Amino acid sequence: MMKGLLAFFALFVAVLGKETFDGHQVLRIIPRDEIQLSVIKALEDIIEFELDFWRGVTDVAVPVDVRVPFHSLQSIKIYLETQDIEYSIMIEDLQVMLDEEREEMEAAARVPQPRGTDSFDFSRYHTIDEIYSFQDMLVAENPNLVSKIVIGHSYEGRSLNVLKFSTGGTSRPAIWIDTGIHSREWVTQASGTWFAKKIVTDYGRDPALTNILDKMDIFLEIVTNPDGYHFTHNNNRMWRKTRKPNPGSRCDGVDPNRNWDAGFGGPGASGNPCSETYRGPKAHSESEVKSIVDFVKSHGNFKAFISIHSYSQMLLYPYGYTRTPVRDRDELHALAKKAITDLASLYGTRYKYGSIINTIYQASGGTIDWTYNQGIKYSYTFELRDTGRYGFVLPANQIIPTAEETWLALMAIMNHTVRNPY
Ligand SMILES: [Zn+2]
Repeated sequence: MMKGLLAFFALFVAVLGKETFDGHQVLRIIPRDEIQLSVIKALEDIIEFELDFWRGVTDVAVPVDVRVPFHSLQSIKIYLETQDIEYSIMIEDLQVMLDEEREEMEAAARVPQPRGTDSFDFSRYHTIDEIYSFQDMLVAENPNLVSKIVIGHSYEGRSLNVLKFSTGGTSRPAIWIDTGIHSREWVTQASGTWFAKKIVTDYGRDPALTNILDKMDIFLEIVTNPDGYHFTHNNNRMWRKTRKPNPGSRCDGVDPNRNWDAGFGGPGASGNPCSETYRGPKAHSESEVKSIVDFVKSHGNFKAFISIHSYSQMLLYPYGYTRTPVRDRDELHALAKKAITDLASLYGTRYKYGSIINTIYQASGGTIDWTYNQGIKYSYTFELRDTGRYGFVLPANQIIPTAEETWLALMAIMNHTVRNPY
């Protein structure tokens, strides 16, 4: 009976309503030793708690951020206290923050829609329709520099749009940038939109960018997980995965950053469809991933591949699935250091850097492990702002500063790529 009622309620939310997060808290838990680490790790497997790990379990003394639904809050806090595990409340009531975010968006939506990209409001979060129309306007305004390529379609049939910035030539070496493969990481899609405008603005004005675009093409996929992004606006702000149903499970979606054919199925990804890190039934099962795979392979001349996430302020290079260092480890490490130093020069934002496995945790089936193994040397992943004060609900007034500082790091990587042909 209870189960039936729950299923009905879940269906009700899915069809009609929007999931709310009243009373949900985000706790920051700090494991003091190996024992506490394993105790916290064990919480991941207790499905009834419905915990949502915003920053996963990594190592002793490294914070774990977890969203705890109201119904589990009491039990979790008592559990942590009895185990003598230290925690603090990062977000007191998630719904309060989401209501503020929504009000800001609605206020922005009351002003007339922009007629061109000059009047596009980069300091706000936008719906997928608004971003798609921004892309079309940008192409229309800059026909000699920007074109739109549809590399495939999402599970729900949305087009997977990639902006190509090119000053000519055929099969030039190229740089790939994607944002929003995890849909709830809103500051990434917003930054991607800003990058697109920055490229057309700076070409012909900024010598460094002009030099890059005179030799290489830039490909930018802003809404890399469009079904998920649409879902975050209309149903569940905290949605991370794709939206494809999993046969035989009540849980939908695959983690598109565990779905790549690089250590696929190994540690640091889940085989449980209800997990936020579900790897999917097989490598490249998600069309959002497969479309990039096919595009990258058929293009054949990508020299840099940058996949942008949030949050936690990190710049990472391969590998995530194995401890074996990449062949180009020293060069990638030095370039990461240069990039985060440039990034910090603007607003003092501090980044950590290193390989995925050494800096965050073991994760298999990740994007840049695959691209590196394809021979794309300059493969990087960003985790943008912040370090957890707001997490995925970063206030919109931080979009432009985040994009601006990240751009400096992107320029460092792109500059290095153009100067070091291989
Ligand atoms: Zn992510």
